[in-house]
Amino acid sequence: MAEVFKFGGASVKDADGIKNVAKIIGLHQDKSLVIVVSAMGKITNALEELTDAFVKKADNAVEIFEKIKDFHHCILIDLFGDESHPVFDDIANTFVEIDWMLEDEPHPDYDFNYDQIVSIGELVSSKILSAYLNFSGLTNNWLDARGCIHTDNTYREGKVDWEKTRQSIQKCVNESNTNNYLMVTQGFIGGTSENFTTTLGREGSDYTAAIFASCLDCPSVTIWKDVPGVLNADPKWFDQTEKIDQLSYHDAIELTYYGATVIHPKTIKPLQNKNIQLFVRSFINPEEPGTVISNLENHLPVASFIFKMNQVLISIFPKDFSFIVEENLSHIFQLFHNHRIKMNTMQNSAISFSVCVDQNEQKLQALIADLNEEYKVKYNENLEMVTIRWYDQNTIDRVIENKHILLEVKSRHTCQIVMKGKE
Ligand code: ASP
Repeated sequence: MAEVFKFGGASVKDADGIKNVAKIIGLHQDKSLVIVVSAMGKITNALEELTDAFVKKADNAVEIFEKIKDFHHCILIDLFGDESHPVFDDIANTFVEIDWMLEDEPHPDYDFNYDQIVSIGELVSSKILSAYLNFSGLTNNWLDARGCIHTDNTYREGKVDWEKTRQSIQKCVNESNTNNYLMVTQGFIGGTSENFTTTLGREGSDYTAAIFASCLDCPSVTIWKDVPGVLNADPKWFDQTEKIDQLSYHDAIELTYYGATVIHPKTIKPLQNKNIQLFVRSFINPEEPGTVISNLENHLPVASFIFKMNQVLISIFPKDFSFIVEENLSHIFQLFHNHRIKMNTMQNSAISFSVCVDQNEQKLQALIADLNEEYKVKYNENLEMVTIRWYDQNTIDRVIENKHILLEVKSRHTCQIVMKGKE
């Protein structure tokens, strides 16, 4: 039975990274593998910049694009030496798709432009990895995820049509006709029924890995990261973090939902539904066992902290001092849904409803304009939100030192605090 390995951007940020990935794959030749790979290094950010420049008709679009092409060209030279290998043409032809777009007028839907341009990062990285694996004797097939993962046309957040996707993935893999196969495909991207490319949301390659594993009934997925496994906090915010050896699906889905960036939040459900184990391991120390996420009864052995910066607390009040009740709550929820704004935490009182969301100037202004039609709205920017799973008073005291608390929401196992540094 096949297993799925997912390699993120950090693991393929340069030629040495690709060689290291090939080494790891080489150690697992005894089984069938589907390799899901992200765009190299920070290329998705660069392609986002390019999309923005293109849509705004800024002068620097060509310059940004040239840098992206050069970055990949240097890696190709490092990997293959001279330019005689056919992958050079393949990559140049893939980039031509962007050239064509840049010559045209942008599509009126920003998100459509985004998906057609940003997805090229994954197409290119997967072609380079596949070619390099073949070059080093690890024979593999390159698979176009756009023909396997079928989505609707919600650009930048494609919703997967699971039945169609299952059929396509099984068909592609059965066609491979070999006992032990090696396939290389792209994370993050899918295709619509009109053959346009969609993306599944930032960091969505983990989700791709889970989709493949679910459709192929794999026993496990391994996400190879630059950390030793799942930690109880992001080392960016805490010096002393602890690695968690085993984690239940339940704790994992809660942590990712609240913003733990180690795994994309949509990854856990398809795996839990089929009892597929998820390993999070280090591509720097691939012999280490990392973390296993499974159907475990025990809860987290240590409190876990998730920090979110750039938060905005929005408080909504009925204009006529009437109660916040189910009817206006459902209207407020509908408005958030229409603007595709996720509520990170919320709380209500008799005449107010407060919501903490990520800062996104454009989306928030549009939402607030709609809310203002019926409600009085106040908001506070530049806040932090911390979520503590399996908290106690000590862990709370640790994070609120020198902070001013604006909102605190507690359930039995999870505490969320929206706060601001004291001036
Ligand atoms: N390349 C995409 C991103 O950076 C998807 C991924 O890496 O998962 O968000």
